[in-house]
Amino acid sequence: MSANNPKIIILGCGASASIVSHVFPNAIIVGKVAPPLYNFGLHYLHRPLDAFNYVKVKIDTVIDYMKANEENIKAYKKSIYGDNWEAHVNKKSQFPVGEHYGWLIKGNRKPLEVARNGLVTKVNLKEKLFMIGEDKFYYDFLINTIPLNTFLKLCDIETKEDFKCAPICIHQRTSISNYTEETHLRVDYFSNYEFYRSTILYEGNKSYGTMEHIGDCLDGVATLRPGKTINSGAIQYELSSLYIKNVICIGRYAQWDSSILLHDVYDRTKILKDIIYGL
Ligand SMILES: Cc1cc2nc3c(=O)[nH]c(=O)nc-3n(C[C@H](O)[C@H](O)[C@H](O)COP(=O)(O)OP(=O)(O)OC[C@H]3O[C@@H](n4cnc5c(N)ncnc54)[C@H](O)[C@@H]3O)c2cc1C
Repeated sequence: MSANNPKIIILGCGASASIVSHVFPNAIIVGKVAPPLYNFGLHYLHRPLDAFNYVKVKIDTVIDYMKANEENIKAYKKSIYGDNWEAHVNKKSQFPVGEHYGWLIKGNRKPLEVARNGLVTKVNLKEKLFMIGEDKFYYDFLINTIPLNTFLKLCDIETKEDFKCAPICIHQRTSISNYTEETHLRVDYFSNYEFYRSTILYEGNKSYGTMEHIGDCLDGVATLRPGKTINSGAIQYELSSLYIKNVICIGRYAQWDSSILLHDVYDRTKILKDIIYGL
């Protein structure tokens, strides 16, 4: 490895890989390019990231038909995860309280330049190499964005962790309304409804909605897997063991942490860049 020019490979081709590749523009991206599961339009950044240029919109966060506040956020988490909810969810809240803006990721993501499209079938941590079919890829640093449970299997690492998760089924709809509202995004969370979340973008006289429920999808547009993941403290051990072997896991599924949002991916990647290239 050249100290100034290590070979960095990004594994995976989703939103995290896209953000990581902005921070490491010379890194090679490989992995399975999944068809876009659903319109990325209703994803939003909780703060603008340099190198990205998105549309700023007002966000209304609503919990069980009431504006989000500390109390109903706690009650919502409790209803989803039970009395022991604090053990499963990260302390930091994903639910913005008060006046809040978001930055819409709306169809303007630059397509990733993927050097090799395919499923990784084997990872050899000792030799710092992985395989896609018959092709071998050597790295100095591997930035993994594929789900941690899949990655550990590819390394033949046995884990006691059971990686609890449930598929998320996505529904979408577009409607025309007779009145023009100010452009804004309304995010509703429901503790007692078939759908646990609905996200509606009001733009001009149209509204674009995405609704999600837990379970396999028969009538929706797509099923996300692993989907909803349950956090577990034990996973830190797996992440650290990979880290010391130059595999850095970044992203909601790679870190198996359901609180991770896209700006967290960006922050972690920037720190990693400082570590690799020196401050
Ligand atoms: C419904 C929903 C809404 C969300 N909304 C927001 C939001 O508004 N704002 C926000 O900041 N975050 C949001 N998130 C959280 C998170 O930012 C997203 O889940 C994000 O899309 C995760 O991207 P990722 O790249 O980490 O994982 P993925 O999109 O799952 O990407 C993983 C990649 O790895 C590839 N792969 C998997 N296995 C292999 C293998 N064996 N070999 C090769 N490649 C493989 C896949 O094909 C894929 O390309 C949301 C999450 C969900 C579930």
